[in-house]
Amino acid sequence: MVMAQPPIYLDNAATTPVREEVFEAMRPFFGPKFGNPSSIHSFGREARAALDEARERLATCLGAHPDEVSFNSCGTEGDNTAVLCLWRAMRDSGRNAVVTTPIEHKAVLAAAHEVAHEGGEERILDVDSDGVVVDESFDEHVRDDVAVTSVMWVNNETGVIQDIPALAQRAKQRGVAFHTDAVQAFGKVAIDARTQPFDLLSISGHKIGAPKGIGALFIRRGTAFEPLIRGGSQDRGRRAGTENLAYVVGLATAAELAVAEREQHWKETEHMRDRLQALLLAAIPDAVVHSRGARRAPHVLNISVPGTDNESMLMALDLRGIACSGGSACQSGSVTPSHVLSALGVAPALANAAVRMSFGPINTEADVDRVAEVFPKLVAKARSMAAA
Ligand code: PLP
Repeated sequence: MVMAQPPIYLDNAATTPVREEVFEAMRPFFGPKFGNPSSIHSFGREARAALDEARERLATCLGAHPDEVSFNSCGTEGDNTAVLCLWRAMRDSGRNAVVTTPIEHKAVLAAAHEVAHEGGEERILDVDSDGVVVDESFDEHVRDDVAVTSVMWVNNETGVIQDIPALAQRAKQRGVAFHTDAVQAFGKVAIDARTQPFDLLSISGHKIGAPKGIGALFIRRGTAFEPLIRGGSQDRGRRAGTENLAYVVGLATAAELAVAEREQHWKETEHMRDRLQALLLAAIPDAVVHSRGARRAPHVLNISVPGTDNESMLMALDLRGIACSGGSACQSGSVTPSHVLSALGVAPALANAAVRMSFGPINTEADVDRVAEVFPKLVAKARSMAAA
């Protein structure tokens, strides 16, 4: 195996490298600024000031009030918290249902299942063949017996964008709280809590150049909320536990950079994604690009080639120094078709061929050229082996 060229990382929807600016902003909190924000001495006061400042900076990025920002450990925690804390706070008020979509991240789906397990009702909206929520289904299910509706802004497998401001508005008209998983949306779409009526929104640091293990949940003032984690009085009692200050500062720094660079980043990634898509479709005319008919965030390209399987393709790509991911969860040798692609009505064989390529600031046009050269060759090889 010859790997003269540096590897290409096309899995930015899975995680991104920590940005240099973020690392530098965090550094003092691993050194002299080690205080606990709850301590009353000077070390604690210094830490408290840094925490408050980071909260303000992230709030500004979201168009929120600082007290509407709750730092947590990750997108999964934010999604779980949004669904469970709201439902538990409201279940006795006649609002016993939660509504979500079949294409959500498992963090939301598992929380909705837990609601059903605890005696609530779980309702799943219909999506069309691109994965866009069907309006009539929303109107049918989002009624005055619903505690919370959760619809993701950008899907992590296909990049499909939902019209969150419009859906949040429709939920609001029915008096139903609305959560959106914006883990893949933050830094891509414009987010502003002042004009967009969502009540809860979750983000995750490691998708935008902050470390793994830090996230935040926007909780609009006045939203019902029963805490998941209890103990100390940190975060106004919404989430007990000493704050991960270094990472909080890292998240605020990454978020500011992501917002400042958003439009430029969109243009650059969209150009790379569209060029790679065009080159691959020209080379492999029967390839299928998932959610192609819908508005998509620019960083995701999910493509299936009939007659191939993604496990072998991903391994072959990796051997050629190209890191992508599959649209399906590979669990101890058995390949389950992606629940997202299944919800779009994609046949299992095609879903199991899905390769997700996701772009970030570290990618270049040269990456596109190399993948466009290598991928069709691997497809031809896989097909000839299958035919033999
Ligand atoms: N939601 C979406 C859409 C995601 O893509 C991810 C991660 O891939 C998550 C939630 C979970 O985020 P975390 O890895 O921070 O728990």
